[in-house]
Amino acid sequence: MIATGADCVAMNVQSAIEKTSKGSTEHFDVLIVGAGISGVGSAYHLTKQAPGTSFVVLETQESFGGTWITHKYPGIRSDSDLHTFGYSFKPWTGPPIATAEEILHYMGEVIDENGLRPHIRYGHTITSARWSSQENLWTIEAVRKDTGETVRFTTGFLWMCQGYYRHSEGYTPEWRGMKEFKGQIIHPQNWPENLDYKNKKVLVIGSGATAATLVPAIAGDCAHVTMLQRSPTYFRAGRNAIEIAETLRELDIDEEWIHEIVRKKILFEQDKFTRRSFTEPEVVKQELLGGVRAHLGPDYDIETHFTPKYRPWRQRIAFIPDGDLFKGIKSGKASVVTDEIESFTRSGVLLKSGKTLEADIIVTATGFNLCVMGDIEFMVDNKPLDFADTVTYRGMMFTGVPNLVWVFGYFRASWTLRVDLVADFVCRLLDHMKTTGAHKMTPTLRPDDKDMQLGSWIDAENFNPGYMMRGIHLLPKAGNKPEWQHTQDYWAEKDEFPSIKLDDPAFSYS
Ligand SMILES: Cc1cc2nc3c(=O)[nH]c(=O)nc-3n(C[C@H](O)[C@H](O)[C@H](O)COP(=O)(O)OP(=O)(O)OC[C@H]3O[C@@H](n4cnc5c(N)ncnc54)[C@H](O)[C@@H]3O)c2cc1C
Repeated sequence: MIATGADCVAMNVQSAIEKTSKGSTEHFDVLIVGAGISGVGSAYHLTKQAPGTSFVVLETQESFGGTWITHKYPGIRSDSDLHTFGYSFKPWTGPPIATAEEILHYMGEVIDENGLRPHIRYGHTITSARWSSQENLWTIEAVRKDTGETVRFTTGFLWMCQGYYRHSEGYTPEWRGMKEFKGQIIHPQNWPENLDYKNKKVLVIGSGATAATLVPAIAGDCAHVTMLQRSPTYFRAGRNAIEIAETLRELDIDEEWIHEIVRKKILFEQDKFTRRSFTEPEVVKQELLGGVRAHLGPDYDIETHFTPKYRPWRQRIAFIPDGDLFKGIKSGKASVVTDEIESFTRSGVLLKSGKTLEADIIVTATGFNLCVMGDIEFMVDNKPLDFADTVTYRGMMFTGVPNLVWVFGYFRASWTLRVDLVADFVCRLLDHMKTTGAHKMTPTLRPDDKDMQLGSWIDAENFNPGYMMRGIHLLPKAGNKPEWQHTQDYWAEKDEFPSIKLDDPAFSYS
């Protein structure tokens, strides 16, 4: 149950686990799925804001990190700054754009400094989650990777931090003739540890953040690397440093203060930038293109290779630290081709324009497979649950699905900003349920919501990356009121979330 016994407070984690285990089924007040940036952040907030709540984090991989441990391709790094991608509660002291290794180190410190390690069980793949209204419990089954055994847990509250894409395999389109190609085809999500690309011709298909990271990272070693894109993406280039942070450090200001000030500054500027991308898209577009031109010079064909057809911010805008992608292009070690693939050949690809590109290795930086709830089979009271049949409450809960929250972050701001907001809400909700003696809370459409027009999880006019559009039918529906949408608006939600009324009729308690 959600109600947390006062006796739990005094117990250490291990004895809490022993006391609550019933035969082969262990019980926890809260079960967190996934030990990525969301799961670790949620666990932190739970220990601070709901002390005494027993909980476990189940993670299928062998360590924490999620995205940052799955992706091992050369150069892997964040595309947003770590002051806001990092947690509100732990200062980020390095350069704003960080490598996966630096992010993992930071997360490791959060885990150790806050005693989270004993709560996390690695090598546990959750396969099913069944809610029973008779018991007011979720029953979770997970397969242990070490023994192959299925283990069972019960929990009063399920905190879904499993991200939004399938970690085991990325998305690779089917092209004609792929089998003919004599070289290697690699998806960046499954980068082989010892891939030898030295002095080889590498073709990277894609134009998103992954391609833009990978190309400069390998350009120095390859014979040549070509970025082949169907259509261009917006990029922002700049120094990988934040001036105000450097100044404050020179003045010997505490890192806590620097973190807070820099976060405020970045968020203020991002807010302005995002709003301008809607109110004056053409001006913003010209600014972004101007930045690229400044790096590549007046003779480079920016019109063809770096001028997207969509308005800025309809897809994520990747930051290019120190303009490294453009430096690679200027050096002649990297180049961009904007064209479409007709077919693969034995030695590369044939393009629709009739040109061919030779390659020893082809990297398909073509995106993710959307995965709605971690490939877990869900049942509510013995009925299979399809999340696409539900309506989302603020992009975190779902009509008819009791005691469950999903952390789905922001696209135009750092994902982690929402980890903190959702965690504050969940801890408030758990406390409310405890004090009112409620065991179950189900988001429910209110009488005046019943005729509300329903649409897709995200409006394609607003934001439309490929993986979202491919999987939009799998995602919950949204309504036409902000409380029934994931608005993707951090700047509104930072004020709205703390004032969500827990006795709102949209929450049915029993
Ligand atoms: C290369 C790359 C760079 C990115 N850079 C940024 C950035 O700079 N800024 C930004 O805001 N966003 C970025 N993103 C988006 C990024 O995915 C999120 O910001 C964030 O890392 C998601 O964290 P998460 O913990 O919610 O999910 P994930 O990182 O996806 O972690 C989820 C975890 O849950 C586990 N899991 C899933 N299903 C199960 C199951 N059934 N049983 C047990 N465990 C399960 C997974 O193994 C994984 O460890 C990037 C994404 C990629 C791929």
